[in-house]
Amino acid sequence: MICSKDWNSNENAKNILNKYWGYDDFRGIQKEIIESIGSGHDTLGLMPTGGGKSITFQVPALCSEGTCIVITPLIALMKDQVMNLRRHGIRAAAIYSGLSREEIVTILENCIFGDIKILYVSPERLSSELFRTKLRHMKVSFITVDEAHCISQWGYDFRPSYLEIADIRKDLPNAPVLALTATATPLVVEDIQEKLSPIDPRASSNPRASRNPRVSSSPRISSPPSPFNVFKMSFERKNLAYVVRRAADKRDELIHILNSVKGCAIVYARSRRRTKEVSDMLNEAGISATFYHAGLETATKDERQKAWQNDETRVMVATNAFGMGIDKPDVRLVIHIDCPDSLEAYFQEAGRAGRDGFKAYAVLLYNDADHRKLDKRIADTFPDKDYVKKVYEHLAYFYQVGVGSGYHATFEFNIDKFCHSFRHFPIQVDSALKILNRAGYIEYTEEQDNQARVMFTIGRNDLYRLENNSPNEEKVITALLRNYGGLFVDYNFIDESFIASQCDLKPQQVYLVLKSLSEKHILHFIPQKKTPYVRYLQRREDTEHIQIPPVVYEERKEQFRQRIHAMIEYATTDNICRSRQLLRYFGETESHDCRQCDVCLSDRHDSAKEAALTAEAHAILELLSDGKEHHITELRDIQLPTEQLNVALEYLLAEEYIHQQDGFISR
Ligand SMILES: [Zn+2]
Repeated sequence: MICSKDWNSNENAKNILNKYWGYDDFRGIQKEIIESIGSGHDTLGLMPTGGGKSITFQVPALCSEGTCIVITPLIALMKDQVMNLRRHGIRAAAIYSGLSREEIVTILENCIFGDIKILYVSPERLSSELFRTKLRHMKVSFITVDEAHCISQWGYDFRPSYLEIADIRKDLPNAPVLALTATATPLVVEDIQEKLSPIDPRASSNPRASRNPRVSSSPRISSPPSPFNVFKMSFERKNLAYVVRRAADKRDELIHILNSVKGCAIVYARSRRRTKEVSDMLNEAGISATFYHAGLETATKDERQKAWQNDETRVMVATNAFGMGIDKPDVRLVIHIDCPDSLEAYFQEAGRAGRDGFKAYAVLLYNDADHRKLDKRIADTFPDKDYVKKVYEHLAYFYQVGVGSGYHATFEFNIDKFCHSFRHFPIQVDSALKILNRAGYIEYTEEQDNQARVMFTIGRNDLYRLENNSPNEEKVITALLRNYGGLFVDYNFIDESFIASQCDLKPQQVYLVLKSLSEKHILHFIPQKKTPYVRYLQRREDTEHIQIPPVVYEERKEQFRQRIHAMIEYATTDNICRSRQLLRYFGETESHDCRQCDVCLSDRHDSAKEAALTAEAHAILELLSDGKEHHITELRDIQLPTEQLNVALEYLLAEEYIHQQDGFISR
């Protein structure tokens, strides 16, 4: 727990910010959030992408005693942050699927012995016996829930394992929660607080249980939601112009836009194949581009990302796998050639433009075919329940898991092989597995990069005494020691291509050297791997007993449908300011016209708005049509009800039709 003794003061937080991050002061709502969590309050922070979210838990974690547990589903981000923190000399670690039990035990014990300040955990780990046992012995400063919208079934990215968080709070009664999200509608904000409130162990029934098939056995009740301190930053992006372009030929339009707006750009496409096609097309048109998706080798991804980051390549054509954790402030243009599934996703991706505060554009290319494609995604994402059950059965044949067995068995999952064997299509199989995941039968982790890891298995002195190493082995060992700390006590993620560049070797050579050092028992090398996993969370059920409750199917399907429709509405509503539409979706009603989106800059907007004005508003505009300033009292001369005149006056001022100064109004 953070008590005032541990929490030395705001000054301390500022010193830490300066020491490790080099900033002089906090910005936006960072300070408020840090003070709130620092004084032990449950806290909810809503910050748009680029608002400096990670500072709000990293700084207080360093100011407090014990370990801060950070729950996040973004494994790539988790690894990036751990590497970054370690580079700054901060002890941080991460636990996620794909680590061996031995590795997990080592990390957890390091936490217990007070060595680790920040521990990242994927939500799936929360229910593991090992984690829960070790957690009880840990001194936990506070729990950070990143991507907190994932706890809400109303959110676009609901993950049942997030519901375990309330459960672990029982074991940590004194650790407050810091929930963070960059995307949440008002309904989700409320739901986050309710779902994260600690569970009262004395009570006898649990409304939450009915929502979560995996914890339904133990009877509990949620206590009335304890008040969270909620801090919200406006999601308005003043320098970002949102544009929807109707285009029959999106490729022509894309080239046209890239030729009209200078600077670095991201183009988002739905499929991996399309990223390559579009990138090729741009290069042919003389626009320097490359492509990026989750299926590429890590070294290739790193190379392309670096080239783009250093402005050697202008355009990155990518799937939604690109962008998380990438901080390039001077992106001038984000173009979607395909529609995302939700405004939440659109807003996050579009928001990667213009983080430096200079003018930037977020363009969505849309045509009538998109409407049909979006509708089809509903069926693709929610295949029939019978189909889902069939996939469950085929999965058991695939791995030869008999009814009643398979509990906690983990398998690598090759989707192509599976589809080939059972004549399925990958998109529907992927959706079916996600539904089974949500229903608690299996854990399905999509293709993910597990970066290579290294730990020395002999001590430093023994290492220096070795004499039979080849020159390349010497080079690699030296590069490892120079670039990564703590390799004698713990596994560290390493970047083979980086080591290769330091040693003047090829990544393949580094790989072989590490293999050979591993065989010689000098170090332990876990090569990078790219595989999805399937893990049975329950013994294999008889297929006819498989239950897919409404909360993971019907209700979610309905929400998905609503989100798809909100996306379509955004793309097709062309008489309300785009920025307004987006902010309204996230619950900001007090927004104003951005004066830079396609709607604001078009005539149809003005005429539609003029048409919507009341008689009172017209009368006021009429009065001011002489271009002079009029004293507010002159409104009395208009022969219309005063109350409605006041309403119209306020509206015209808010919409900036007219201006007011010192009691005088003018157009
Ligand atoms: Zn606008």
